[in-house]
Amino acid sequence: MNKSIPISSVCDTPQKKTPWLNVDDAISRMTSAVKKTQGMEVVVLRDALNRVLAKEIISTINVPPYANSAMDGYAFNSIDLPSTDDNTLTMVGKSFAGIPFEGEIKTGECIRIMTGAPMATGTDTVIMQEQVHAEGNNISIQSGHCKNENVRHIGEDIKDGDIVLQPGQQLTPAELGVLASLGVAEVTVYEKIRVAFFSTGDELRNVDESLGKGQIYDSNRYTLFGMLTNLGVELIDMGIIPDDRQAIEDAFIQASKQADAIMTSGGVSVGEADFVKETLDKLGKVDFWKIAMKPGKPLAFGFVNDAVFFGLPGNPVSVMATFYQFALPTLKTMMGFNTTKAPVVKVACKTNLRKTPGRTDFQRGILQSNEQGELVVESIGMQASHVLSGMSKANCFIILAQDCGNVDAGSLVDVQPFRGLM
Ligand code: AMP
Ligand code: MG
Repeated sequence: MNKSIPISSVCDTPQKKTPWLNVDDAISRMTSAVKKTQGMEVVVLRDALNRVLAKEIISTINVPPYANSAMDGYAFNSIDLPSTDDNTLTMVGKSFAGIPFEGEIKTGECIRIMTGAPMATGTDTVIMQEQVHAEGNNISIQSGHCKNENVRHIGEDIKDGDIVLQPGQQLTPAELGVLASLGVAEVTVYEKIRVAFFSTGDELRNVDESLGKGQIYDSNRYTLFGMLTNLGVELIDMGIIPDDRQAIEDAFIQASKQADAIMTSGGVSVGEADFVKETLDKLGKVDFWKIAMKPGKPLAFGFVNDAVFFGLPGNPVSVMATFYQFALPTLKTMMGFNTTKAPVVKVACKTNLRKTPGRTDFQRGILQSNEQGELVVESIGMQASHVLSGMSKANCFIILAQDCGNVDAGSLVDVQPFRGLM
């Protein structure tokens, strides 16, 4: 993006009322309707990856547990630091990581020290090996250094008694490492929740079948499989259920007996809703909403027996968009996560965007750096809700507020990335 293009922020106007439920209201209705799972289990550290911590972690040690050197060099007492001329110290021993120097260092003496090796008694400063002149045991140091240089202090990372991790925190590679640095071998995490999911539609075929007239492959069960697996829930894949009253009722009953949550795609749009609605009315309490968003207007949410129910739309892009916006924060709440909000950043948009006021758009975009190293976003092009290949090209949603209209290139837009570093 050329820096000289003036950047303006779009869509700062307040939202108007519509007969449809707006996105934020839908999110808060869903997240506040569910409860955090009560089940906990103790797992060994490696099995805790991506799990949600259930009990706080308090450190019982200092990290680092002793003062040590940040460099390969020479350790001595800062009293010996010369203010003008050089000072020559006598090397009296060595300290290696794992094999400390046991003696005490007096004025005029120093030790050779390696990165991570404990500081010896009487030393408080390290000069890197490249900055001294060494001749046998005579180590000459120059002025310009200061006390405590290159020393890692006891407990400067974590102190004995610190609360290090809070319940509700997801254990990513960094947390696993932090726990290991404390010598924690096992942690208490929330039990995984079980999610049963199935596709509905007479037109749907499995990937290993051939297509007949009027048939399409069931892609939603694969995007849902991927998103649910990445989230870290236990999956119960119930396959494709035909548009048949009895088959749907049986599937719902079976799912509600086995799972904490049920997720379906298709069958909640006008025309089909009555049919599914009847079944759901019989088995639980489910609301059928029209959400002021694009893609993904129809959505059903509630309870089937005791299981939380998400009736996602059928169109493949709508499934992914409604999963990310609604199912993800709601499932995270059930899983015990203490934060469920996805980050949104303001970025300049390189392309014009077409938008009709009335619904919040989750347009698919590509977020990347321009030649100046600034983040910019552009539309993937075709934005229809059946164009699933666009989700694969995209790495973010460009979120355009309900009352916003067309957007000119150069405007700042809200961007929600959906691909992380891993
Ligand atoms: P529906 O909400 O059932 O009317 O579905 C809306 C659109 O999404 C239709 O074009 C369906 O064929 C399509 N669709 C529904 N379920 C799936 C699925 N599992 N995989 C791919 N497309 C689907
Ligand atoms: Mg259908």
